[in-house]
Amino acid sequence: MPELPEVETVVRDLRAEVEGRSVVAVPHAASSVFRYPSPEALAAALPGASFAAVRRSGKYIHCVLARDGAAEVESEALIVHLGMTGHLEVCDAAAPERPHTHLRALLDDGRELRFADARRFGRVMLGDPDALRAARLIPALGVEPLGEEFTVQRLDALLRRTTRTVKAALLDQRGVAGLGNIYVDEICHRAGVRPTRRCPRLTRAERARLHAAVVEVQRIAIRNRGSTIDDYRDLWDAKGNHQEELRVYGRGGLPCLACGTVLRRTVVAGRATTYCPVCQR
Ligand SMILES: [Zn+2]
Repeated sequence: MPELPEVETVVRDLRAEVEGRSVVAVPHAASSVFRYPSPEALAAALPGASFAAVRRSGKYIHCVLARDGAAEVESEALIVHLGMTGHLEVCDAAAPERPHTHLRALLDDGRELRFADARRFGRVMLGDPDALRAARLIPALGVEPLGEEFTVQRLDALLRRTTRTVKAALLDQRGVAGLGNIYVDEICHRAGVRPTRRCPRLTRAERARLHAAVVEVQRIAIRNRGSTIDDYRDLWDAKGNHQEELRVYGRGGLPCLACGTVLRRTVVAGRATTYCPVCQR
């Protein structure tokens, strides 16, 4: 499943392609991935809007829209969540439609923004982000780990407030937005903290190491354009490169790259989890 680095990679590429472009028609919109409004309503509402900005919010992609040349008002966005197998692309309008394409939006440069999703866990929405949040169509998210507000103190306060395991706390999107199963295991290994640890038993130094690891792991993975474990592909259908750099995720039973000890597999917070019993305490 795409996590923060994969979504950020898509956002950066998409921004370069669609910012300033407008939608002239919606030749195709159908499927259960349209959470709100209906595909028909979205197809009627989107033409005439232009893309003022493309941003990431947790694992959500917000394409902020503007109308009639008016200044960006931030009150309307096309919002996409990639789910498990969702894929955005910008291609020539004449390009053959790939299987499971749910949305095609024709842009004013003759290309199309398309969304395909084989497993349909992805989501497409159009509306005011605040209203969608109030209607619980998109969740209220916690602090952005790459933003200025994600300070050592902020994570320290979050981890001191809960009795859950480190893994469960870091996966909770209401605490820190965008972290998922792959990178939380990587973060815990980098910080030298077992994901099974209960938050109240962490030392201040360990909480600080976790903060540094969150930032470093996400930045490095973005630099590597994310990880392709199963289906993730970028806007150009290319795989990420970070799967080659993963230190623990998916490596249970293999030697730790730092110390050579066999990595242990377990289940924490309902998720497959891998850690090194020597490097992580
Ligand atoms: Zn180790």
